[in-house]
Amino acid sequence: MSTRSGEAAKARSRAWIGLGGNIGDVEAAMRAAVAHLGGHERIDVEAVSALYSTPPWGVTDQPGFLNACTRLITDLRPEALLDVCLAAEAAQDRVREQKWGPRTIDLDILAFEAGSYSSARLQVPHPRLAERAFALAPLADLDPGLLVGGRTVSQWLAECDTSGIEQLKSAVDWADLD
Ligand code: ADP
Ligand code: MG
Repeated sequence: MSTRSGEAAKARSRAWIGLGGNIGDVEAAMRAAVAHLGGHERIDVEAVSALYSTPPWGVTDQPGFLNACTRLITDLRPEALLDVCLAAEAAQDRVREQKWGPRTIDLDILAFEAGSYSSARLQVPHPRLAERAFALAPLADLDPGLLVGGRTVSQWLAECDTSGIEQLKSAVDWADLD
């Protein structure tokens, strides 16, 4: 096996990040967040989903959301990837005053190819993924056959209420990927 600097090469894994928001220019904030992720030396952005408009979930008395998903490949471990996601939110002046309330930008680690992970601050796959059509629809756009918790993403999505979820723009029309 080839080695780098005498160390075994670190395993790379795909990871799926859900993006969303409902305050300000969310499309621009999501584009900047994807650029932030892709600018990290240990992250390659492989693909970005279409852009969706979705009804508010949990707290329904708030503006509708934009949602999308990106697929990365990285050798970062899950907690380090969460730190990069939180930094990408902070760089977009994340505002959040209420749980599940209005926010400029939200990045969630939806799934990690290398497996599940659980700590006090992070659970992967995302514990509420199976009930969130707003996260499943863009994820299914990228990888409908991805297995999460014993079912494929498209099987989970088929069991969700998808009313009010609309595809607004194709990936090439909103994401600025080279
Ligand atoms: P939500 O995404 O449910 O609206 P927040 O974004 O406000 O809530 O929650 C942020 C916290 O959730 C993060 O600081 C992190 O510690 C925790 N968390 C647990 N699992 C995940 C995950 N899979 N992806 C992102 N954050 C997670
Ligand atoms: Mg979040």
